[in-house]
Amino acid sequence: MKIEEKASISIMKIICVSIILVLISGIGVMAVSPSLNDVKIVLQNGYELSTITSKTKVSEILEEKNIVLTEDEKAIPELDEEIASGDTIKIVKKTEQEVQIAKISDEGTKTSLEDLLDNYTQITEKIVKEEVSIPFETITRESGSGTESSNRVIQEGQDGIKEMTYKVKYQKDVEIEKTLLSEEIIKEPVDKIVQINKITSRSASTIRTAAETAEQTGETITCKVTAYCPCSKCCGKSNGITASGTVATAGRTVAASSKYPLGTKLNIGGHIYVVEDRGGAVTGNKIDMFVNSHSEALAWGVRYLPVSVVE
Ligand SMILES: [Zn+2]
Repeated sequence: MKIEEKASISIMKIICVSIILVLISGIGVMAVSPSLNDVKIVLQNGYELSTITSKTKVSEILEEKNIVLTEDEKAIPELDEEIASGDTIKIVKKTEQEVQIAKISDEGTKTSLEDLLDNYTQITEKIVKEEVSIPFETITRESGSGTESSNRVIQEGQDGIKEMTYKVKYQKDVEIEKTLLSEEIIKEPVDKIVQINKITSRSASTIRTAAETAEQTGETITCKVTAYCPCSKCCGKSNGITASGTVATAGRTVAASSKYPLGTKLNIGGHIYVVEDRGGAVTGNKIDMFVNSHSEALAWGVRYLPVSVVE
């Protein structure tokens, strides 16, 4: 028994000494390199790997050990987490739910991209041309030589044609945008010319009175309304004095044919203007409106507006 006791005591001593040695050596290692971490990595198949690393981030430790995660694997703690010495990184299989969520989010991005491309291809642009008719004007010519009161049509009127070019955007065959690109007169309207014979004497027929004009009061006709400015392109001269001797004023002065005596007030599209000017091209139902600049005249273009005489 004594021998056995002695033996066990000596075994105990050896064990104690070795534990102390291990502890001392451990402390020694820690004292020499305090920044190194002792990390255990447990792989999915159960294989354990102990490693000393200077890294603390899970992803960096795995990279250092050339451990690549497959699509259905994950690390605990997660890749972007920091760990300390003595910690364990476990590589585990993702649950079926996690795998599915990952797949759905992948498919989600694919679907939205396809949708985007789909919508993109469904927007189509077409150049569309539309023809619009331009109403003809009626011009009256007076002839003082007639013996009876009769109107004769010298020339039949014909509507003109204007081609409007639009850029139209369609999405799934539905028009979503329409932009006017240009308009071109394909066919100018042909004026209807009517000759009026009057029994009245020449002097009476050529001098039209305000009373005669008053008969037209209230009657609304459509006139071709253009615009002009004092520039040489529009007038050939630029002193700004009208045929009636007034200073041409934008918003008031219009040029009209002799059908309207100077001084006649006209309601053109809801605004009141005064016939103060004449023009070589201003015949029949044409009206030329005075504006301040050539750019305004160009911007005005050609408009067909209701016109009536105001008393
Ligand atoms: Zn001009």
